[in-house]
Amino acid sequence: MRILLSNDDGILAPGLAALRAAVADLGEISIVAPDSPQSAAGHAITLKHPLTVQRVGLGAPEKFWGISVDGRPADCVRLAIRELLDKPPELVLSGINAGQNVGINVFYSGTVAAAAEAAMFNIPAVAFSAATTGGEIDFERAASGCRKVLDRLLAGGLSPGDLINVNVPALAGGEPKGVQVVRQSTAGLEDVYRRRVDGDGGESYRLGDVYKFLPGEADCDVAALADGYITVTPLQVDMTRGDRLKTLKRIMGQ
Ligand code: MN
Repeated sequence: MRILLSNDDGILAPGLAALRAAVADLGEISIVAPDSPQSAAGHAITLKHPLTVQRVGLGAPEKFWGISVDGRPADCVRLAIRELLDKPPELVLSGINAGQNVGINVFYSGTVAAAAEAAMFNIPAVAFSAATTGGEIDFERAASGCRKVLDRLLAGGLSPGDLINVNVPALAGGEPKGVQVVRQSTAGLEDVYRRRVDGDGGESYRLGDVYKFLPGEADCDVAALADGYITVTPLQVDMTRGDRLKTLKRIMGQ
């Protein structure tokens, strides 16, 4: 199986290395990833400058690791599929992100965007993220959880366009309680902007690093992950709200 790996934390991120090690035996692995951290890039793509690609080697003697792109996660996957790879991948994996990507954060997440880009090409894709309570993330342990989920997904059969969002809970408190397939929460974020006024009267706002979700439904990814479960959520590129189509058609006289 031809597998493309990408992420949003950058080509040298430890989460990507852990993911590569965890899936190395599954086939022919290629890495195309941003040359710098791109967290919260969402599904942005680069229009204003040409994308520079570089072959990245690691170790001594140096071994080819992957191709870096000075763009966004979606750029990496798009460029890889269109130009950089000899043959299109059969599976795209993104991550493992340093930090959870559940609830409405899937919209901000570059990790999810990299996977979503593949889904737009009808290539099955899985995004992996590891939650943290603030300490260092044990990516090796997180990767073993990701691999277990991936094995089940592959055994069950992934379909073209499948876009699966997987989150591993913070492991400081012990092993995950299990795996839960859950909806994406729509709970809002209780984040805070820090206002600053300079001596010359300039005003700025900085988003603080501490944010939490407002209370939401219990049967969703946010709650299950906080409860210590690995969460698995099927997402889709089609953002149409199907239950509103009929009403809107009526309103528009269609
Ligand atoms: Mn990230």
